[in-house]
Amino acid sequence: MMLRKSIYKSPAQLRSMVEPGRITAAALEALRPLVRAGVSTAELDAEASRVIIARGAESNFKLVRGYRHTTCISVNEEVVHGIPGDRVLQPGDIVSVDCGAQFQGWNGDSAVTFIVPGDAPSDVLARRQELSRVTNGSMWAGIAAMASASHIGDIGAAIQDYVEAQGPSVVSGESYGILREYVGHGIGRKMHEAPSVFNYRTPDAGAEIRPGLALAIEPMLTAGGEATFVEDDDWTVSTVDGSDGCHWEHSVARHENGIWVLTAPDGGAAGLAPFGVTPTPIA
Ligand code: MG
Ligand code: MG
Repeated sequence: MMLRKSIYKSPAQLRSMVEPGRITAAALEALRPLVRAGVSTAELDAEASRVIIARGAESNFKLVRGYRHTTCISVNEEVVHGIPGDRVLQPGDIVSVDCGAQFQGWNGDSAVTFIVPGDAPSDVLARRQELSRVTNGSMWAGIAAMASASHIGDIGAAIQDYVEAQGPSVVSGESYGILREYVGHGIGRKMHEAPSVFNYRTPDAGAEIRPGLALAIEPMLTAGGEATFVEDDDWTVSTVDGSDGCHWEHSVARHENGIWVLTAPDGGAAGLAPFGVTPTPIA
């Protein structure tokens, strides 16, 4: 008989996830000053790899079958799973970088979005900054729900409600799309564990939110339609209508005394403040 592993972790197990979360955050933060016009996505990947190895960890993306890189880097109409390579960043590009570290058998997973500084059309810049702000806000809305909601389905509802409350883009007039085929997930000994965390309202309430739950919450939005396709490289997920995509992600623990964002250096304090939630370190 197959025993189904509990999705809930012990306090000691959650504590083991603090350091891989910090290392993941450090790898992504190291890229911020490097995201400039003229830099290749392979150079960003190399820096993330250097930081993870220097901290005594390893890339968990490289443990995914068939994937050889430390990051996924998705530019403009690419939403997620872009492969780092020769592509050179241009001023105004919207660049989502997804990265994860495994340390002593435990995992972190996080994604941030940058806008490449420089001389780009102001309407393009404004549109992309707004897309990143809405995607980031929807992620924090989902994370905040983890502090008070009763079921995982409430996280997706909070994300969808946040996006819809923004209304259409004030720059383009288009409504935002939420990807349906790609979702967040449990995280722990493996980067991808049960349960799935939908970024939208579903009929199923999902599992209970209670101490021991560790989730990667990762809304993927577009500045247009929700339809995507996988490019010929078998990885990169791009929008069908060519609209820009955006991805933000954090790994979050629910524990006895509240929530802690494992992949945010401040535990999520700044991002959660607008939602009236104060993160608490894992005891
Ligand atoms: Mg990720
Ligand atoms: Mg993830």
